Amino acid sequence: MSPQILALDVAGAPHRWLNVRQAAHYYATGMVAWTAGTNEFVLRGGIQRSTGVQSKICANSIIAIKGRDFMVRNFDHTPSLTKDMLLARDRYVCAYCAQRFKYDQLDLEHIIPKSKGGEDSWTNLVAACKACNHRKGGKTIEETRFRLHRTPFEPRSDVYSLFTPYLADERNEAWRTYLFLGRN
Ligand SMILES: [Zn+2]
Repeated sequence: MSPQILALDVAGAPHRWLNVRQAAHYYATGMVAWTAGTNEFVLRGGIQRSTGVQSKICANSIIAIKGRDFMVRNFDHTPSLTKDMLLARDRYVCAYCAQRFKYDQLDLEHIIPKSKGGEDSWTNLVAACKACNHRKGGKTIEETRFRLHRTPFEPRSDVYSLFTPYLADERNEAWRTYLFLGRN
């Protein structure tokens, strides 16, 4: 997979993925308002005849692009709920035992069980390991000794789906953190 750069609008809303060449275009035209990533990608250009120096552009892994055309709309739209998205939100950590697991070792667990009217919603579903999910079964939290390790929340925007192809990619940890925990 070629390096991907996350482009934001000036307000910091995630917009789309760029390859290094596309990002270089925004750098070259002075459209990069600010950067936030920790990784850098280097794009090498032609060699200048007079100096013999090869031009290069360093592109940050997260760049904000100026201009109204690049503003993200519908940013407050709630993303659709999938296992991928929910596990990414919960960072592959079981909501009850607080241990980290792999994708296949985690289930989506209803805090209020379906049998008691619990919904399939961002705030009623958490990642839980098979053991915790099994032990909690169809009971409510009050009926068990379980405690929620953290309160589930509803993510901010459908642009989270930008991350779906990259959720298993550890190199994108910084970008996931950025999206799920907010801007710094
Ligand atoms: Zn667990």
